[in-house]
Amino acid sequence: MSGDVHAAVAARLQSADGRYTSARRRLVEVLAAAGQPLTVGDICRDSGLALSSVYRNLGVLEEAGIVHRLAGHDEFARFELAEELVGHHHHLACSSCGAMTDVRLPPDVEAELDRALSRLARKERFAIETHRLDVVGRCRTCASTGG
Ligand SMILES: [Zn+2]
Ligand SMILES: [Zn+2]
Repeated sequence: MSGDVHAAVAARLQSADGRYTSARRRLVEVLAAAGQPLTVGDICRDSGLALSSVYRNLGVLEEAGIVHRLAGHDEFARFELAEELVGHHHHLACSSCGAMTDVRLPPDVEAELDRALSRLARKERFAIETHRLDVVGRCRTCASTGG
């Protein structure tokens, strides 16, 4: 992964009065490498860190706006790096196994979506900051096994 992300994370942590420890660096590496939101179980497995350390450090990173928590479509929350670090994207969420995949829309489609949402927001007198859009269905594996 690019050193830019590490530099940005270190700067954010510093302004949040936190240190960029090796455990936190490991968490950021795992989340960046995955390219999709991960459960705490996934993060433990991929990072080799203890559960208590994963929970504690995820909490610090979330507080500092580095990690974003998604409500999963199962009982497990999922975590990913904030869009400020990895860029705007959407998710394909499997309602059967709970897997989530990052997807990026073509710029013209994203612009069209923004226009449609702006019209909606104007009607509702709502000031939009960003949008989050997850597509729910069945992933390739679940669709092929009829799960
Ligand atoms: Zn994502
Ligand atoms: Zn979008």
